[in-house]
Amino acid sequence: MIVIVSTINVLISSLIYFNYDKKVFYEDTKQKLEILARVVGENNSATILFNKPKEAKENLQTLKADEHIEIAQIIVKKKLFVSYKKNENIDEVFIPITPYSDTVIFLKEKALVNAPLHMDNDTIAEIRIQYSTKAIQEKLQGYYKIIALIFFVTLFVASVLAYFFQKNITRPIFELYKLMNIITEKKDYSLRSGNMAKDEIGQLSNGFNQMLDQIEEKNNELSYQKELAEASLKAKERFLANMTHELRTPLNSIIGLTGLLHDTPLNHEQINYLENIKLSSDHLLAIINDLLEFSRIGSGKLQFEENEFSIRLSVERIKNTMQYELRKRNLDFSCHVDKEVPHIVVGDDYRLNQILLNLVGNAIKFTPKGKIEIFVKKIFESEQKIGIEFRVKDTGIGIRKEKQKIIFDSFTQENDTTTREYGGTGLGLAITKQLIELQGGEIRVESEKGKGSTFIFSIPYLKKEFSLKTKENNAPKLGHLEKILLIDDNEMNLLFTKSILEKSNFVVETALNAELALEKLYSKEFNLILMDLYMPETDGFELSQKIRAIDDEKFKTIPIIALTAAATVNEINKCFAAGMNDYIIKPFKKDELISKILNLTKK
Ligand code: ADP
Repeated sequence: MIVIVSTINVLISSLIYFNYDKKVFYEDTKQKLEILARVVGENNSATILFNKPKEAKENLQTLKADEHIEIAQIIVKKKLFVSYKKNENIDEVFIPITPYSDTVIFLKEKALVNAPLHMDNDTIAEIRIQYSTKAIQEKLQGYYKIIALIFFVTLFVASVLAYFFQKNITRPIFELYKLMNIITEKKDYSLRSGNMAKDEIGQLSNGFNQMLDQIEEKNNELSYQKELAEASLKAKERFLANMTHELRTPLNSIIGLTGLLHDTPLNHEQINYLENIKLSSDHLLAIINDLLEFSRIGSGKLQFEENEFSIRLSVERIKNTMQYELRKRNLDFSCHVDKEVPHIVVGDDYRLNQILLNLVGNAIKFTPKGKIEIFVKKIFESEQKIGIEFRVKDTGIGIRKEKQKIIFDSFTQENDTTTREYGGTGLGLAITKQLIELQGGEIRVESEKGKGSTFIFSIPYLKKEFSLKTKENNAPKLGHLEKILLIDDNEMNLLFTKSILEKSNFVVETALNAELALEKLYSKEFNLILMDLYMPETDGFELSQKIRAIDDEKFKTIPIIALTAAATVNEINKCFAAGMNDYIIKPFKKDELISKILNLTKK
C-alpha cells in the first residue's frame, strides 16, 4: 500500500511538473524568438528603406553568434530581400505562413518565426527565422530520465519504509493475532505477548497481557472454588452415607423386631403400643428415605431402569398398599385406566410406584372425607414412545392459588401449620417432580381451596417392542435349603435378619466380625454370604477382597450380597469392585432379600 501510494504520488507530481516546465520552455522560446525577429527587423530598417541588400547581408552575419539560428530571411514586397544560412547543409523547412502575420510555429526540432516590420503604420518588410529547438527537445528528454530516476528512487525508499513499518507495526499485530489464536485453541491462559515496546502496539500488547492476567486469575479462583465445591459435595455425600447408615441400621432393627414381637402373644394394650411404635418408625424411615433420595437426585446419581411392566397392575397395587390408611380414614378409592393404555410398557415401574405412593399418600393425608381417584390415559403415541397421563384427584382441603407454584420446591409446605397438623418434610413433591422430569415428563396441580386437588403428571414410556431387556422372572420359590453366612457387627440386625431367613427355611450361621467370619468359612460349607459393609476393624469391602483372594476356587465363586444402608452409586460401585455380586438396601423387604439370594444360588 505504501509503495502504491508513493508511486501514484510521484507520477502525478512528475506529470504536473513536467507539463508546467514544457510549457514554460515553449513560452520562453517563443518570446525569445519574437524579440530576435524584432531586433533583426529594427537593425535592418535603414538597409530596407534605402535598399542596401549588401549591408543588410552583413548585418545578418551577426546572427552567427546564436548557433540555434539556422536561417534568417528579410522579405520586402513578397520578394526575398536578403537571407542568412548558418551553413549550406541546412534544409529550409517550407511551411506556408500567412504573410505579415506575427507567428511562431513549433515543428519537430524546429521553430519557425514570421514577424512583420512596421514603420509609420506601414508594413515595410517581413522577417523569417528558422530556429533549431533540438536542444530544448534534448533537455526535455533529460527530464524524462530524471522523472524515471525519481520514480525508482521513491519506489526504493517506499519499499524500505514499508519493510520498516511492517517490522514495527504489521508484524507485532500479526504476532498478537497468532497468540490470540493459540490461546483460543489451547485454552492456555498462561501465555503472554512478549512485545514490550513503548509505542501503541506495545500498549495494545500490554493491554492484552493484562486481560490475560485477569482471565487467569479468575480461572484460578474458579477452579479453586470448584475444587472446594467438589470436596464439600464429596464430604456431604460421605456424611449422608454415614448418617443414613447410622440411622437406618437401628431403625431397621426396630421395625423388624416390632414385626417379630407382633407375632408373639400380646395383650391389647401392648398391641396398641406396638402399632404406635411401628407407625412412628415407619414415618421416621420415610423421612430418612426422602432425604437420601433428595440428595441422590441433587448429586445427579439417579439411574432409571427399563423394565417391562403393566401400568394397570402398578395402579392396582397402590390401592392394596394404601388399603389400611384408606380404611382408617374411611375414604373411597377408585382407579380408572383408559382402554387405550397398553398392557405392557417399558420404563421404571419402581419409580412410578414411588411417585404414585407419594401423591396418593398426600391425597389421603390432606383429605378428611370423600374420595380419592386415579385416572390414567394415553396422551400421545409416536413410533417408539407412548405418553401416559396420570391424575390423582382428591376431595380434600385444596391448595391456595399462590401456593400451587411453590409446593414443588423443596422444603415448602402450604403453610407452617401444615407441619404441625399433618407432619411431613416438604420434600415429597420436590422429589416427585424431579423423578418425573428426569424421565422426560412433567407435573402440575389444579386445586381449589376447600374443594380438593388434582395432581396431573405425564411420563413418556417406551413401547414394548423397544424394550432393551426383559425383566427376569425370578419369583421366589420357597423351601430351598441353602446355607448362608450372615456377617454383621450389630447383634440386633443379626437377630432380625436371621429370623427372617430361618422363617423361609434357610440355614443361617452368623458372625459378628471378619475374624469370626473367616473362621466359619474355613470350617463349614456355605452357599452364600450376606455381608454388612460397615464394621469396625475389617469392613465389608476389605473382607470381601480377602475372601476373593483366598487360593481356593470355592471362595472365588461363592456369591456375596452386600447389606447396605447407604445406597449411593459410589458405594454400590465399590461393592462390585470389591468382588461382591449384588447388594440390598436396608431396611429390605423380605421378598426382595429372598429373591436376590435365590437368584444367586440357583443352579
Ligand atoms: P410433605 O412431606 O409436607 O407432604 P410434600 O412436598 O409432599 O411435603 O407436600 C408439600 C405441601 O403441599 C404439603 O405440605 C401440603 O401443604 C401441600 N399438598 C400436597 N399435596 C396436597 C393435597 N393433595 N392436598 C392439599 N395440599 C397438598
